[in-house]
Amino acid sequence: MTIPHTSFRDSVERMFTHAAGLMDLQPGLEEKIRVCNSTYTVRFGVRLRGQIHTFTGYRSVHSEHMEPVKGGIRYSPDVTQDEVEALAALMTYKCALVEVPFGGSKGGLCIDPRAWNEDELERITRRFTYELSRRNLISPSQNVPAPDMGTGEREMAWMADAYKRLHPDDINAKACVTGKPRHAGGIEGRVEATGRGVQYALREFFRHADVMKKAGLEGGLGGKRVVVQGLGNVGYHAAQFLSVEDKALVTTVIERDGAISNPQGINIDALRGHIRATGGVKGFTGGDYREIGLAALEDDCDILIPAAVESVIHDGNADRIRAKLIIEAANGPVTADADAILRRKGVVIIPDMYANAGGVTVSYFEWVKNLSQISLGRLERRHEEARSRMLVEELERISADTGTNFKLATGFKEAFLHGADELDLVRSGL
Ligand code: GLU
Repeated sequence: MTIPHTSFRDSVERMFTHAAGLMDLQPGLEEKIRVCNSTYTVRFGVRLRGQIHTFTGYRSVHSEHMEPVKGGIRYSPDVTQDEVEALAALMTYKCALVEVPFGGSKGGLCIDPRAWNEDELERITRRFTYELSRRNLISPSQNVPAPDMGTGEREMAWMADAYKRLHPDDINAKACVTGKPRHAGGIEGRVEATGRGVQYALREFFRHADVMKKAGLEGGLGGKRVVVQGLGNVGYHAAQFLSVEDKALVTTVIERDGAISNPQGINIDALRGHIRATGGVKGFTGGDYREIGLAALEDDCDILIPAAVESVIHDGNADRIRAKLIIEAANGPVTADADAILRRKGVVIIPDMYANAGGVTVSYFEWVKNLSQISLGRLERRHEEARSRMLVEELERISADTGTNFKLATGFKEAFLHGADELDLVRSGL
């Protein structure tokens, strides 16, 4: 793989500078917004398998213009300070775009989660939580982590429990992280929310004939050829919803060990089952296998969904991309250089800060629910259906009044048609 010429953080800063240039910001403000306010680096030891292992972690706060600051924690051997700072900045812009009242933050731990068993990961996560807690970098009112690459409900449950033990008197302790399992204070729909958001962003795109024409696309999502890179939480849910509900054809899935292609469309659930059983896509009988997975980013298709890591589309391969539309399900998959090349080619890009904002939108609902402590809706469960309609109407009114993209949040109505508890609290949060 060709290495992109600029770092991820440079790339995000260049995109920001370009956008700021189109605005009338007072002198000095542009730089103040661009820079990360602080990044904490921690190195801690955990005794495992008879010896002390040292781990390096980060929590970066990009902007505290609203508190708490919000953003996931990534577990990956490739985590760097540069990366978490770029991701923290993207969180600020993402929250602002969908009007979720949080500042931006991001964390990371340099670890290969597959190299440790569950008990070991729990000990490491609890120790990391302790280190973050000492600096108020996990706190219901100041800094609220969430899942990201390499973490999920399980890690959030450990973090919430570790925080509670460290702060037994904090009545809002549950709101210290989002993305928890339902039984630990999580909210229905959070796991699939980011993938759902990608689907809704695409549905919205396919309602606008002018931009569709620009991309050389016509008709609806049905039958469109889709390439998905990464079948993790975001990629899996986006691919599953698009193929099952919108009848799009997922013709290629790219994973770590290669790519699977089938012009008739891949059965996403079957492929996910295969990955779970074998650790990769190789050997899957529902499509043809190619070993050099990333080359498949250049396949002829209608929609390309990079849903794994940053900078996979860069100045070394952008010219060869044949997709008509790219939707950034991952954070920062298209570098600033590639963005310029693709725009010259007429490729339309739906940016990450909109496309993957579904996760933090539903995180906001979970946080509000945790703060409020009690299940208000339980008293009025019979009115659940009526009230869920009111919620949708209210969101739509806000969207129209402000002329903003609150539509994305509106899109999550389905996720909330289940529980009156959530609905009451979401309403009060608005
Ligand atoms: N890690 C997710 C993101 O990049 C979710 C953040 C959150 O829910 O706070 O948007």
